Amino acid sequence: MTGREEETLTAVLGARSAAPLGKLGLATVGDLLRHFPRRYAGPGKLTDMDQLALGEHVTVMARVARASVRTMRARSGALLQAVVTDGRHELALTFFAKRPGALRPHEEKLRPQSVGLFTGVVTEYRGTRQLTHPDYIMVGLDADDEESAMVEASRPIPIYPASSGVPSWRIDRAVRTVLDPLREGDVDDPVPIEVRARLGLAGRLDTLRSVHRPYDDDEWARARKRLRFEEAFVLQAALAQRRARATGQEATARPPRPAGAPSLLADLDAALPFELTEGQVSVGEDLARELADARPMQRLLQGEVGSGKTVVALRAMLQVIDAGGQAALLAPTEVLAAQHARTLRQLLGPLAEGGMLGGAAHGTRVALLTGSLGAAARKEALLQAASGEAGIVVGTHALLADKVQFADLGLVVVDEQHRFGVEQRDVLRAKGRTAPHLLVMTATPIPRTVAMTVFGDLETSTLTQVPAGRAGITSHVVPAGNPRWMERTWARVREEVDAGHRAYVVCPRIHPDEDLPVSGDAARKDFDDVPDLLELVDADAGKAGERAPLRAVLEVAPMLRETPQLAGLEVGVLHGQMAPADKEAAMAAFAAGDLQVLVSTTVIEVGVDVPEATVMVVFDADRFGLSQLHQLRGRVGRGSAAGLCLLVSSALPGTSAATRVEALAQTTDGFKLAALDLELRSEGDVLGAAQSGRSSSLRLLRVVQDAEVIARARHEAADVVTSDPELDHQPALRAAIAAQLDDEQEEFLERA
Ligand code: ADP
Ligand code: MG
Repeated sequence: MTGREEETLTAVLGARSAAPLGKLGLATVGDLLRHFPRRYAGPGKLTDMDQLALGEHVTVMARVARASVRTMRARSGALLQAVVTDGRHELALTFFAKRPGALRPHEEKLRPQSVGLFTGVVTEYRGTRQLTHPDYIMVGLDADDEESAMVEASRPIPIYPASSGVPSWRIDRAVRTVLDPLREGDVDDPVPIEVRARLGLAGRLDTLRSVHRPYDDDEWARARKRLRFEEAFVLQAALAQRRARATGQEATARPPRPAGAPSLLADLDAALPFELTEGQVSVGEDLARELADARPMQRLLQGEVGSGKTVVALRAMLQVIDAGGQAALLAPTEVLAAQHARTLRQLLGPLAEGGMLGGAAHGTRVALLTGSLGAAARKEALLQAASGEAGIVVGTHALLADKVQFADLGLVVVDEQHRFGVEQRDVLRAKGRTAPHLLVMTATPIPRTVAMTVFGDLETSTLTQVPAGRAGITSHVVPAGNPRWMERTWARVREEVDAGHRAYVVCPRIHPDEDLPVSGDAARKDFDDVPDLLELVDADAGKAGERAPLRAVLEVAPMLRETPQLAGLEVGVLHGQMAPADKEAAMAAFAAGDLQVLVSTTVIEVGVDVPEATVMVVFDADRFGLSQLHQLRGRVGRGSAAGLCLLVSSALPGTSAATRVEALAQTTDGFKLAALDLELRSEGDVLGAAQSGRSSSLRLLRVVQDAEVIARARHEAADVVTSDPELDHQPALRAAIAAQLDDEQEEFLERA
């Protein structure tokens, strides 16, 4: 690298100026140049002081109304009191000193009518908001002559993320010192010149000047846009490289059987009890084409809850089996793995009984491999996988173990994938003779740009349609504190059960005497109860402590058994701490109708499919993320009878928790909800960085609002990587990718 961005601030600014910047985590020239202003104070525009909150560290631009020094009678010493104003509200500034003389310099600078930037922590004294000993700087005083003073005074003033001890303008000064002597060639530009030329983007040095030292608002707005593009571009180039490396591997082509030839896929299609939706057909064609190619398919299948992703995946698996290969289906939990095996066997019928009496002659087998299998069953499953007798092997992470071998692994399907890392995906892929094709399915719809960002190394297919003939689902918010509503809730559950249907009751905790909601409990042995990346509960919602404790499965189940409206019903429980066999038994009893009410944690969230379930009651609904609630709700209304979801909430009106729950009651469009969910959270949450307490590595880019920028960047990055896969001619871009991957970015890519 030729750039000077690696130089330390100590070397450039001296230790004294560099030390305070170190407190903000700024060590190098590059760090400082990437410390962008949070906002800009307009030169003529004073800060609206109505907005100032007590206790907050603020930087305000205001006009001095008056200032005077006086000696204090009560105790020795002098006091300077000034009042600054935004034209409507006033803010007091107070300075103390031993002698009045020490305050004179302040008095000189704080001339009435002059404008300055003042920074400090807002306190209140006798009903007046004030800053005590604020740091401040008067606008326009820095320039040498009157003309440049005028120009300076008309420029927007950058306000940096600051802290007490490191006021915004100290950062401003440091930035100037660093920026002014830089020349073209001193900073590296990760955006290649051809791309800049094509899109009419300024060079990086000019951009940095514009963002830190703009002459007008347009200038910094343009610069920020260009920096957002740069962020998106670097990220997309990294993903494009990942994609290129994966598709550069050799795969085995698995073309469909010619028409008329015996084929599991044709037999399944003939036996399906329903018509495929248009979406299922067209996504199916895409998959069929890519599986027939000798480059590994890299596809993300996302779709509305209940849109029928499983059948799409099964059809792909059968094409591979027809061509002599095997498929592995990786699920995040034992419950889900077992359920998938059951579903696949059911859909396949005699086709899954290869070699068995009454099975189809060319049939195959579905093997289930989970950690909790007994030794004999395990051996049998391993054997079926290794011999190729099982065309489909379903399992949890147990599939990743070294002992698991395949005769000819041709396709890996990862269901509800965000709980598996890229590394785990790679372990499975390494079990093929050639690179297996990859199909990843997400649990819930995600906005397009999130797909491009988080799953950016995959091509995306989307199922938006839900099969016809579904009666749909109605949702209502039930205020938790209202006994009449709760009575009505149980009466509705009773009515559904009496009509031959079943009910889920979801609680956020397992044990009533445990403090933590299940989602916050890191000690869980498997992933069953843990909400995923996009679906963390809102930590603020219950902070105040004035609300009742979260409802727990083991408290609610006994309570329901005593509830008059539910008298005589069988109430069961399901949660992640139960032994796998007990979980299985509970699910099976519920599916068979031996249990009519199932009280459970979010363990039922992912993919559990009992068509007779028509009603779901969610306790503490305000504590769940939107996508998670949507996914949960997708468990009911799957059959021909209408679904009902009752969201018990104690969120106060107007809070984001209340907004979330109400939004859910109003729409069943998962893509809309996912976008809203993103808006209601900070970007850091979305990218998982908030959990580690670090700020998001995305500085300016906003995943939702910057959709177009991300799409554009993806396109351009793909071009660049196609013509220069290892980026030999783009050292700056290569370096930027490496730096970014070193950061927490790597962490989140791995998580994806
Ligand atoms: P998801 O996309 O949420 O994983 P599933 O694959 O579990 O959805 O499908 C939900 C239900 O819809 C299943 O019972 C499945 O058999 C059924 N299903 C799938 N495709 C169709 C279709 N084209 N018509 C009717 N029912 C379908
Ligand atoms: Mg599913």
